[in-house]
Amino acid sequence: MPAFHRMGGLRKHGYKLEDVREWRRAEHEARRASGYDEFFRAHGLCVDCGGEGRLVTGVRWRDSDGVERAEAGSVAALVERHNLENSVNWLNDTSKWGYLYETCGVCEGTGKSKGP
Ligand SMILES: [Zn+2]
Repeated sequence: MPAFHRMGGLRKHGYKLEDVREWRRAEHEARRASGYDEFFRAHGLCVDCGGEGRLVTGVRWRDSDGVERAEAGSVAALVERHNLENSVNWLNDTSKWGYLYETCGVCEGTGKSKGP
């Protein structure tokens, strides 16, 4: 999962991007594993959802007839397939399209890892 997807989860738990950078640099210098997953594990956050407590499962949008639709799947593929960057398909004037979420089954929505 790309890092930007995880920023919401990090913020939710009070971490900033600089915290992650700093931690990763220190771990790297200590020759320990310094990936994003390691940061989440080391700080007791759920790796599966990035601390967000929910997972993106698809997108929702309004079609050209004004009917709100939703479909699960890869966000990038859905945006392309349904031409969601075209303003006729936007939810409203300010919101283009939205994500569909489901509660993370690993942490049951807490965003925290269960184990030690
Ligand atoms: Zn989770």
